[in-house]
Amino acid sequence: MHKRRLAILGSTGSIGRQTLDVVRQHPDLFEIELLTANTSSDLLIRQAIEFNANSVVIRDEARYREVADALEPHYIKVFTGMDSICSLAAGDNVDIVVTAMVGFSGLESTVAAIRAGKTVALANKETLVAAGKLVTEMAVKHNAAILPVDSEHSAIFQCLQGSHGAEIEKIHLTASGGPFREWPEEKIAAATKEQALRHPKWNMGSKITIDSATMMNKGLEIIEAKWLFSVEPERINVVVHPQSVIHSMVEFADGAVIAQLGHPDMREPIQYALSYPARLPLDNRKLDFAELASLTFHAPDKKKFPALELAYEAIARGGNMACIMNAANEEAVSAFLHDRIGFYGITDIVAECMDGVDFVGEPTLEDIFATNDAARRRAQEIISKKNL
Ligand code: MG
Repeated sequence: MHKRRLAILGSTGSIGRQTLDVVRQHPDLFEIELLTANTSSDLLIRQAIEFNANSVVIRDEARYREVADALEPHYIKVFTGMDSICSLAAGDNVDIVVTAMVGFSGLESTVAAIRAGKTVALANKETLVAAGKLVTEMAVKHNAAILPVDSEHSAIFQCLQGSHGAEIEKIHLTASGGPFREWPEEKIAAATKEQALRHPKWNMGSKITIDSATMMNKGLEIIEAKWLFSVEPERINVVVHPQSVIHSMVEFADGAVIAQLGHPDMREPIQYALSYPARLPLDNRKLDFAELASLTFHAPDKKKFPALELAYEAIARGGNMACIMNAANEEAVSAFLHDRIGFYGITDIVAECMDGVDFVGEPTLEDIFATNDAARRRAQEIISKKNL
């Protein structure tokens, strides 16, 4: 494997930091061309120096001077703003773009990377949820590979290696069930953000941790799987698997099921996306089957976790509906994290926005950006009414 040059968009977040940990273990195989962050200037500066990045972007203009002054003695180029992220990610010196930003804000730069024909290690699932049809068509047109970083989708991708294009009968998408898996509905209704942020298995950023508690994360992942693997939703089965050892499974026409297993550690799917098709050593915890004792499975409770049905509904309605769902969810999660709404307020707001924002059957990229704005405004209106 010759050295691969990486652009990590969102390097100071949870996925970004774990990506750099993978790079740290293989300095002879990966080098850092570009790091970007929204506001975390201190960490961005430290990362840029440690990995000798060629350039960095601090999105928040108010922090540009601080970052530029710190990195000037190291001859690291510093830029600011979304346009810089897009043009540098598309640059000739980049082989792989890791999209590790949070939410819809990742769409613009992901599109820029795809249009430049880059290999995209996709950690930003909202991009495919909001604009899956456009983004996957664009990737084919520009010959850009999209390699999944999301652990479930990496598992499916790994299970498909060696299948020689055999059709997928079913995808079994595993879910940990989140912190409220065993709670009764009345108790979930009164859940605080502290309780929702305590994920039993995965250590992740706050947006995705709340999405795991509502199971909207699994809803987003159903849509992500549909686009990544061209599988219709009726062939995507969500199964709760509290141990999070099986990261997902693929079933073929003959009933054979291939699963991918490991202790939950995001560095494994990240590294596979970076080294694909090669496999590299990793200093993670290895499975001891004698110690595992048992793996359990059950169907998700769709009444306690309405987000799953909302996701299936969004796929069925098509067009910009998943974009509406995603935008409303981002606003609602943020409101929940600011103690402005209760836990079930999140999915209530999503459902209300899916019925109240203008539907577009065949959206263009411009329509997707407009839908995102409209759905956020609608969600904000609902949230402010709830506050009165
Ligand atoms: Mg996942």
